[in-house]
Amino acid sequence: MRTILIAPREQILTSRQCLPDIVEAYVGAMFIDSDFNYGEVQRFFDMHMKPYFEDMSIYDEYASKHPMTRLHTTLNESYGCTEYRIMADELPTGEPGSKPLVISGLLIHRTIIGGVRAKSPRYAKIRTATKALEELDRLTVPEFRARYGCDCRNGEEANKAQNTGSGTMGNGSK
Ligand SMILES: [Zn+2]
Repeated sequence: MRTILIAPREQILTSRQCLPDIVEAYVGAMFIDSDFNYGEVQRFFDMHMKPYFEDMSIYDEYASKHPMTRLHTTLNESYGCTEYRIMADELPTGEPGSKPLVISGLLIHRTIIGGVRAKSPRYAKIRTATKALEELDRLTVPEFRARYGCDCRNGEEANKAQNTGSGTMGNGSK
């Protein structure tokens, strides 16, 4: 079987983000090699992939470790900051027919972390979140508030949330 790899080897070794591309290329190669027999793809899916999607609750832990989820949790719960957003925009390459590059960054109040480039908005945002987390994870709440000019909520409250790991409010009890 021909397998089409569309990422350089070092990226495969260092980035889990290209794994979906590998699966996509693999399934694509299977489809072509079977003379466009959709039944072959369906058989592969039923035999090797479907069992992993029958109980989605086992992925909850994975989702909580995803860079985007971790970033939101860090900013909201650890630092008590709500004035931030991840931006991604296409940069035209100037060459006709070529795919545009995506540049992405995280804006916290008026400070930008980022300048990450990638080939799709999704990868760009994930890389931005990963890069931002590396910076944010080192900061205490007062350091965060000073560096980013954050005045989103009372510093003591944010400190408390960071120390206890979770709040007691908003659990739905009357
Ligand atoms: Zn803030």
